[in-house]
Amino acid sequence: MMDALTPSRIVGARLPRWCLPAAWPVQASQPVLADLRVADGRIESIVPHAGEVVGDWSLDGAPLLPGLIEAHTHIDKAFTLPRLGALKPGLLAAIETMIADRQTWTVADVHARASRCLQWAYEAGVVKLRTHCDWWEPEGTPLAWNVLRDLASEWADRIALERVSLIALHLFAERSSARALAKAVAAGGAGACLGAFVHSTNWSVASLRHVFEAAEEFGLDVDLHCDEELNPQAEGLATTAALVREMAFSGRVVCGHACALATQSEPQAMATLDAVARAPITMVSLPTTNLLLQDAQTGRTPRQRGLTLVKEARARGIPLLISTDNVQDAFCRAGSFDPVEALAVGALAAQLEHPFDEWSESICRGDWLTRAPDAPPLRIGSTADFVIFSGADAHGWPTRAQSRVVLRGGRVAAGSVPATWQQAAETTR
Ligand SMILES: [Zn+2]
Repeated sequence: MMDALTPSRIVGARLPRWCLPAAWPVQASQPVLADLRVADGRIESIVPHAGEVVGDWSLDGAPLLPGLIEAHTHIDKAFTLPRLGALKPGLLAAIETMIADRQTWTVADVHARASRCLQWAYEAGVVKLRTHCDWWEPEGTPLAWNVLRDLASEWADRIALERVSLIALHLFAERSSARALAKAVAAGGAGACLGAFVHSTNWSVASLRHVFEAAEEFGLDVDLHCDEELNPQAEGLATTAALVREMAFSGRVVCGHACALATQSEPQAMATLDAVARAPITMVSLPTTNLLLQDAQTGRTPRQRGLTLVKEARARGIPLLISTDNVQDAFCRAGSFDPVEALAVGALAAQLEHPFDEWSESICRGDWLTRAPDAPPLRIGSTADFVIFSGADAHGWPTRAQSRVVLRGGRVAAGSVPATWQQAAETTR
């Protein structure tokens, strides 16, 4: 049975090349459009479009992606900007501002701001969102951490909410304190990860080793803020890659930012990326905040852009995700928890070729964040979570990507279905 909000046959969808099988037919150097069947909220079939096939919706080439991923956000801090007053430029100044604002946080405040983040993400088509949570408590858990745990259950049927402790590396200086932190994080249950802020201002190989020892002991995956700076001496990423191999760490390791790679000599940066590929480590690039925070000084145009080496990473097969990072806080006034918007910024800043056919993978591969074996989305039998871009085409995407219809479990969850999709279906019936 089909009603207007639960189409069982969607024809003429344009899928990105990265999620099509190698044998998928090509016409005029473009992948043939796809016809999808959905039954009981799951994908029943995906086949090359046959001209005479009639669907409930006829997309006429509209781009379709699986449910989107926000791999790296800070929903504990989002939407604090209006109360912060005048801000100083740069990452370290923003950290100071947030430490001060954090003293005023209450359960109701964090819950209201973080809920708004999740609502925005849901409407954008996000199915999984990972947030970092500022954590300065050597003992006990931060107020926001517990609010986020509650939100993970509240939103469980709409967004898989993963939570990473964002802990300054110096708090791992003692092995015993590292164990205590990991134990507190592990008590957060499924979806909790151990994280640390790794920067040349707090650098210590011993502390980083303690992070991985403690994570291994408590069965935690690790997600680091790593080398978010333009100092070519920063060695967080290279050391992480070496430690992961040396310790045969069993969890998934994610390193966000890695801006310093862009300032290092070519041979040094490539050697680090080779080690990252072997480790293996998932990288996350955050173009919007890197553009705003790196090489930032009042009254001076930035010369360096701070993006990590996304193309060289992908060329080595490194899983690389692109995400939003901060939204309307001391770090960043931009962003909307729409991964497509983050990718659009990255597409310009990093001159990404083929944003839809290749780089859309960087906002869809939630499996690259966790220790389960990698499995691309849009498989037969998987949940019918789709984002269909009703105003865009695959050539110009993500231009005009704002208009979209989000399906969750085969049912429209956000956006309005263009009348032409159904009319086209009726006229060919
Ligand atoms: Zn971040």
